[in-house]
Amino acid sequence: MASSAAIEGATPASAALNSVLQRVQLAAERSGRVPQQIRVVAVSKTKPVPVIRQVYDAGHRYFGENYVQELVEKAPQLPEDIEWHFIGNLQSNKVKPLLSGVPNLAVVETVDDEKIANRLDRMVESIGRKPLKVFIQVNTSGEESKSGVEPSGCVELAKHVSLNCPNLQFSGLMTIGMLDYTSTPENFKLLANCRTEVCKALEISEEQCELSMGMSADFELAVEMGSTNVRVGSTIFGAREYLKKN
Ligand SMILES: *Cc1c(COP(=O)(O)O)cnc(C)c1O
Repeated sequence: MASSAAIEGATPASAALNSVLQRVQLAAERSGRVPQQIRVVAVSKTKPVPVIRQVYDAGHRYFGENYVQELVEKAPQLPEDIEWHFIGNLQSNKVKPLLSGVPNLAVVETVDDEKIANRLDRMVESIGRKPLKVFIQVNTSGEESKSGVEPSGCVELAKHVSLNCPNLQFSGLMTIGMLDYTSTPENFKLLANCRTEVCKALEISEEQCELSMGMSADFELAVEMGSTNVRVGSTIFGAREYLKKN
């Protein structure tokens, strides 16, 4: 069999996952970091349950989805010890189906205003589930098409979550960044700067504030720049096919 990188599209997802884990480990070692500090979230959007199951059976437990309806359909068909990360844009009216349909939701990575934070906070309470970890999504590339709070607003929103949302656990910052690869390092640096500010304001240590950055094209760079949570989709599961343009 040829090496996994050469025939990526044809590689079973579990082999591709192993290759990603290995690359994360190498990137961590290059930058003097401990690989155990970095979580690989396998982004399974548009992918069918049996393929996700293959990756689960290979021992992986962190998966990410970005459409509520899709996650709510898939989660009950998969084992309960999966830690789901919600990584899509979240609308207020989808908070209830998300939280009631996915008891093993571990993190919502995309909190970007007080309104959605408040809505999540109240829903966690009314459903009676354990406190929900949240990351604040920061728009580090300044693109209008991207969600996220402006970098200058991340301290205020982090404060709001930690002071006013007792059922949420502020756990980190997330960004997508520009996908042109030249601005990516700047975007990642900006997110790390936001963490410095937030940690100072909340009087917490940097270990208490994760950095979710890095996708298929740039996860090794992200690890070298301090990411604790990379979100990798197509490199594990193969290219996505969409039925309609989004
Ligand atoms: C789809 C998606 C990813 C994964 O993208 P790949 O390039 O396929 O690795 C990561 N983060 C977010 C927010 C996504 O929507």
